Amino acid sequence: MQFSPSTQLNAVFGHPIGQSLSPKLHNAIYEKENIDAVFLAFDNSDIAPLIAAMRTLPIHLAAVTIPHKEKVIPFLDNVDAAAREVGSVNTIINEAGVLTGYNTDVVGVREALKVTQLAGKDVLTAGAGGAARAVCFVLREAGARIHIFDRTVSKAETLGREFGGEAYAEMPHREFDVYINATPVGMSPNENETPIPKGMIRSGSVVFDLVYKPRETRLMREAKEKGAKVVSGIVMFLAQAIEQERLWLKREISAERYAGTLDLD
Ligand code: NAP
Repeated sequence: MQFSPSTQLNAVFGHPIGQSLSPKLHNAIYEKENIDAVFLAFDNSDIAPLIAAMRTLPIHLAAVTIPHKEKVIPFLDNVDAAAREVGSVNTIINEAGVLTGYNTDVVGVREALKVTQLAGKDVLTAGAGGAARAVCFVLREAGARIHIFDRTVSKAETLGREFGGEAYAEMPHREFDVYINATPVGMSPNENETPIPKGMIRSGSVVFDLVYKPRETRLMREAKEKGAKVVSGIVMFLAQAIEQERLWLKREISAERYAGTLDLD
């Protein structure tokens, strides 16, 4: 990577940040696309100094991750409509000192669910956190029937009210068309866990696991064994990152070109 006096600085803000794949992916994009920029990771449990740094240095594009996605909103000058509805921002673009927040997870979820028609389908989402909100936003716009299971039923109920879906306190042991994991269950190092019992999945089901480490989770493996169509969280991760660059650079970048960059296991 070559730097120059005009190299532009971009970053991911989070805490902890050690496992983030964003620097690797965004720096690969800058290198291959000949963009004079560098992408670093800034670890701080407080969002205020990160935003101050963004305005001062300046940082042009910031990816925002746990635990700042919701708390960052009051620090921004503008928040786009989808991010406001989802209630979280994972991207900030700094245009001449004006900070605008976006939610590109929504674009990532849309891309992951392109494998199926969602209108009128029964979709079960496990989890009711930030990522589940982006999932429900996409399900609602596509006209799916939304079902949400979360171990904290009040969170599932809130999501159900906001996006128009049914909430469950227990895993509903019946068949759905699409199953989505929006919890960290199954994520490394807890690779033996699965959020959705294998018995609920059928040949012809669609299973989307937002978890991308390991590359094949137990849920994905079992769904394949049942003959389901399986989508990895890596599809979402790549699409949301490419959208971040599109928002900054104002031009399209091919996602396929970078799929191999994310060597995870
Ligand atoms: P979050 O806001 O912390 O929400 C996590 C959700 O999972 C909550 O509903 C939580 O339930 C539930 N949960 C946590 N541990 C659980 C367990 N052991 N058993 C059952 N439920 C559990 O996190 P998030 O940002 O939504 O992220 C959720 C997952 O999506 C993570 O694995 C994250 O890595 C992944 N993700 C992937 C992408 C991508 O690009 N592929 C993007 C964003 C997120 P409680 O409320 O009861 O704690």
